[in-house]
Amino acid sequence: MIPGVKRACLKCGVLTLHGSWCAECLAKAERIRSRKRGTRHYTGDYRKRAAAVRANAVECWICHEGARPGDPWTADHLFPGDPASALLAAHRSCNSARGDRPADQM
Ligand SMILES: [Zn+2]
Ligand SMILES: [Zn+2]
Repeated sequence: MIPGVKRACLKCGVLTLHGSWCAECLAKAERIRSRKRGTRHYTGDYRKRAAAVRANAVECWICHEGARPGDPWTADHLFPGDPASALLAAHRSCNSARGDRPADQM
C-alpha cells in the first residue's frame, strides 16, 4: 500500500489509511478473535490433558521446585492463548505470578 493514500475498507467501505480494513473493523475482528481464544482453552481434550498434567506433576516448570503444601499444582500453557499449546505443571502461585507472559519473556 502507498503511504498517505486512502483506500476503501474491504469490510464496510469507509475510506481508511490503515490498509485493507478500517480501524473499527480491525478492532471488531480482534475482539472476535480474542473471544474465541478464551473459550477454546476449555474445549476438546483440555480438561483431560490438564488433569493428567496435575496428576503426574513432580516439578514446577517455572520455579523448578517440587510439591509445596498449600500451593496445588496447576496445568500451565507453555504458550498462553494457544489451545494446542503444551501443558506444563506449575504451582498455582507461580502460574498466577506468570500471568499471560509468553515463555520467551519469562
Ligand atoms: Zn471498515
Ligand atoms: Zn513453582
